[in-house]
Amino acid sequence: MALLERPEKYFQFYAQVHFLTCEACLSHHGEIFEDPQAEPPLHPDCRCHLLEFPPSQLEYYQEQAERMKLRAQQELLRRKLWRQAVESLNGSDLSKAEELFRQAAQVEFYLEEVEQLCAEKRELLDKNPELRARLQKLFIRFYRMKFSLDKYRPIPSRLILAWETQGIERLKELLP
Ligand SMILES: [Zn+2]
Repeated sequence: MALLERPEKYFQFYAQVHFLTCEACLSHHGEIFEDPQAEPPLHPDCRCHLLEFPPSQLEYYQEQAERMKLRAQQELLRRKLWRQAVESLNGSDLSKAEELFRQAAQVEFYLEEVEQLCAEKRELLDKNPELRARLQKLFIRFYRMKFSLDKYRPIPSRLILAWETQGIERLKELLP
């Protein structure tokens, strides 16, 4: 009986999961190939890469893949919640928007998206000091929470503190 041929190496697809990563790249995050079908870069500015590993580590990388796919799905959900939150700012029920922002921020929170929000809703924010105050308070809380996420654990606390201070300053500028 012939032995099943094992490939000499495998590849895992890595996308950088953040607010700018496109959905196509996110959909490959964690995928394992013998023979890569989707080989990055998939588009200009694509920051994905393939990591090569030996068959002896397949089990470990399969476990990683599960976690990575979950993270990619969470990022897509986060975007959807953030979008819904931004859209519901026009409504009368601010607590609904706050709840959606809170759910989104449990996955991640990005200053760049607050900047976008402020540009997009400038008119509404300009005439509504109470809304600015509530959002400022909420977002400062999220910005502090952000750095308790696992992925920031390897970063020196001195650096985190500097980021936190800068970020909070920026939020105060954006939502005076
Ligand atoms: Zn990519």
